[in-house]
Amino acid sequence: MSQQPVIAFIGAGNMARAIIGGLLENGFAASSIWAAEPDAARLEDLAAQGLNTTTDNQAAVAAADIVVLAVKPQIMKTVVNALAGAAQTHRPLFVSIAAGISLDALDRWLGGDAAVVRCMPNTPSLVQTGASGLFANARVSDLQREQATQVLEAVGVALWVQTEAELDIVTAISGSGPAYYFLMMEAMTAAGTRLGLSEETARGLTLQTALGAARMASSSDVDPTELRRRVTSPNGTTERAIKTFQAEGLEAMVEKAMTACRDRAVEMA
Ligand code: NAD
Repeated sequence: MSQQPVIAFIGAGNMARAIIGGLLENGFAASSIWAAEPDAARLEDLAAQGLNTTTDNQAAVAAADIVVLAVKPQIMKTVVNALAGAAQTHRPLFVSIAAGISLDALDRWLGGDAAVVRCMPNTPSLVQTGASGLFANARVSDLQREQATQVLEAVGVALWVQTEAELDIVTAISGSGPAYYFLMMEAMTAAGTRLGLSEETARGLTLQTALGAARMASSSDVDPTELRRRVTSPNGTTERAIKTFQAEGLEAMVEKAMTACRDRAVEMA
């Protein structure tokens, strides 16, 4: 990372640890990272890695250029309200990774004058292959946008969207998307087993195929449509399967499912 701002994590749970792990792997200095948690025992391993740790959220915020809000959505208001003083004095960038909490609410809870980025990460961030959508309020500077990108890129891909409402579409693609692929894996494993393979073999082949297809698609310079065309010989086996998916309405079903997901995200906000 070219510049090393001081980053404080408020809440040192799964998601914060994933991002911290990614930052350290990317050469970010442990001494530039703070982790704040009420549960001191959960901070011990982070302190052993050289991070600054504290049970006092305000102390961490006071030291930071970037504050990553990584507590559960239900307690966000209480946690953030207590940080409003610090937000008014040295004005760090706040990055919220909590699902369903609007920029407006965060800004209000921080005293009404804060630079805030709202981010929608996903669970593969825990294995450093996450996909995050980000949106900033008007007080976030270009440098701060770059810094927020660097933080989220530590655990995968980070893409900015044009409006806050687009974060609900991000939820429908990448936020909830891992579960769609898990469902496909379940269905392929079950079908392979019903067709006669052992469950272990069907699952092993399914998972490796998902990984291989994802690697090929993300490393290729052609799009998935072209990759599919290349493995679909006329009148061959793959074509027979693809035609069956299409005849059964797979594309329309995916759109319907994602629309339902987006609508639920809007409802919950
Ligand atoms: P988690 O429960 O693992 O971590 C939350 C941490 O906050 C815990 O360690 C808890 O002790 C700590 N905490 C509790 N009260 C606190 C307080 N007053 N001050 C500071 N810390 C406090 O949860 P997580 O899975 O890491 O999720 C964190 C956030 O990330 C949530 O808002 C969630 O919506 C969001 N998120 C998570 C995922 C995911 O894959 N886990 C994906 C997308 C978004």
